[in-house]
Amino acid sequence: MTEKNLETHELRPANHFLRDQIAADVENKTYGDAVLQTRFPPEPNGYLHIGHAKAIFLDFGLADEFGGKTNLRFDDTNPEKEEQEYVDAIQADVRWLGFEWDRLCYASDYFGQLYEWALQLIRAGKAYVDDLSAEEIRQYRGTLTEPGKNSPWRDRSAEENLDLFVRMKNGEFPDGSRVLRAKIDMASPNLNMRDPVMYRILHATHHRTGDQWCIYPMYDYAHGQSDAIERVTHSMCTLEFADHQPLYRWYIEQLGIFPSRQFEFDRLNLTYTMLSKRKLLQLVAEKRVAGWDDPRMPTLSGIRRRGFSPEALRAFCASIGASRTNGTTDIEMLEHFQRDELNRRSARAMAVVRPLKVVIDNYPEGQEEFVEVANNPEDPNAGTRQAPFSRELYIEQDDFRETPPPKYYRLSPGKEVRLRNAYFITAQSVEKDAAGNIAAVHCTYDPLSRGGNSPDGRKVKSTMHWVSARHAITAELRLYDKLFAKPDPYDFPEGGDLFDNLNPNSLEVVHDARLEPSLAAAKPGDRFQFERVGYFCVDPDSSETRKIFNRTLPLKDSWAKIEKKSTPAG
Ligand code: ATP
Ligand code: MG
Repeated sequence: MTEKNLETHELRPANHFLRDQIAADVENKTYGDAVLQTRFPPEPNGYLHIGHAKAIFLDFGLADEFGGKTNLRFDDTNPEKEEQEYVDAIQADVRWLGFEWDRLCYASDYFGQLYEWALQLIRAGKAYVDDLSAEEIRQYRGTLTEPGKNSPWRDRSAEENLDLFVRMKNGEFPDGSRVLRAKIDMASPNLNMRDPVMYRILHATHHRTGDQWCIYPMYDYAHGQSDAIERVTHSMCTLEFADHQPLYRWYIEQLGIFPSRQFEFDRLNLTYTMLSKRKLLQLVAEKRVAGWDDPRMPTLSGIRRRGFSPEALRAFCASIGASRTNGTTDIEMLEHFQRDELNRRSARAMAVVRPLKVVIDNYPEGQEEFVEVANNPEDPNAGTRQAPFSRELYIEQDDFRETPPPKYYRLSPGKEVRLRNAYFITAQSVEKDAAGNIAAVHCTYDPLSRGGNSPDGRKVKSTMHWVSARHAITAELRLYDKLFAKPDPYDFPEGGDLFDNLNPNSLEVVHDARLEPSLAAAKPGDRFQFERVGYFCVDPDSSETRKIFNRTLPLKDSWAKIEKKSTPAG
């Protein structure tokens, strides 16, 4: 089944202020007959992460819901950090999440228009060329408690400013020697309004415009104007831009262009997770992970490789909605949605992570048979398959104790257990190698218990998974755990570093797991529940002869417990 066939009921976002705002604007025709227009504006300086999924879900999801359109716009105004690789990966990730943009746009497409508008502001006496250095500009800006000081260059004539700005654009001046600033108010209580820089000189090659420009617009000057050009009605962004909103409005008002409006929502923070492209890039660059798509990374490409699905991510985004205050969401909540989806949809399989040989002494040598196994007990349409059974099997080392501790109900000498879908077996003796390690457990089986059913009403306390030794395939399992060991990765002692909190056990590789033979046909991306073990998916590093499985999640659902605890009964 493909993602497109899935039910989409969980796509409907919870009620929240953004949805109310848009509903009201549609109802009141705030923009007349103009279509509801949103945009998702990533900077192509890294791969998208789970936080971006939230923004994508709001931008695309709300537009879809209210009959609007969404552009994917690359906010590519920092040529030194941006690359085509990121542009391509971002498009793939947005589509993987299940969204399709109306127009594909680039802020760099607007460099010409932005430049014309800058000339307009200069002519109107609203912008000036400043010769102060970056450091001096910082000093003149003042602080939250002290007003700033006017630059000595603030009162240049419009003619002089025009001449200098054109020459800045023509490449006559070195990097950093001059900037263009908006002329607003150096005493404004909002630091963003203290004559913000509009353009800087940068002789850098841009991934799209090449060497055509040597001046580049700042985020604040480019963003709102790009919104206006695209006739964006609702420009949604995270709360750290709230202080920038007056400036966003100022440019639009001064230029008299399409009145796009900005709305801010809470940034997604997840426990045990770091959501910052800059820091994620550092993890990749320092080779602390295998790459942007390492299954431990919170990037969309990472969690995709880990086995997460767009359906679960959308359900998660729908449930978190949006708010006006920042908070932190438990990673268990995301995992809960992923387990729920995997439980409904993933095929079951038997896989033994740490194999222990079992020999059924009273089962004829050379004989084999096939037992019927349900592909997914949660899904009556998933059908069944045949699993081979024979005299020699593997079970988990953890499922046998020569000397069982109290309340240990799995296999031990003299104890009877059920092999799932197969037979009841009783452990009789232990065979050891020269070093004293257990080489095999000898058992007997009850032929009348075929299918795992009790022949006479006698009960066993444990049901275990197994594979037939002769038929099993050997595979590599990559057992992933959280990348950070602390709920708040930024909680490190003074003089320390975020990376001090990396979990040293975030990956354990098992080289010789034994899997039921049907898994030989699994393809990269296929997802399974290994019964009693966890959810796994096939890694693209697999070959025809050697399969590699990534653990998406273990089975236990700690979120369900947390949820139960925090929901009052009744
Ligand atoms: P990062 O700090 O990871 O680079 P960013 O905000 O600089 O993130 P952009 O590429 O500028 O990344 O983001 C594109 C959009 O995604 C913006 O509207 C931004 O507000 C939103 N976004 C980024 N991170 C999150 C997050 N953690 N939660 C919700 N939205 C986010
Ligand atoms: Mg950014």
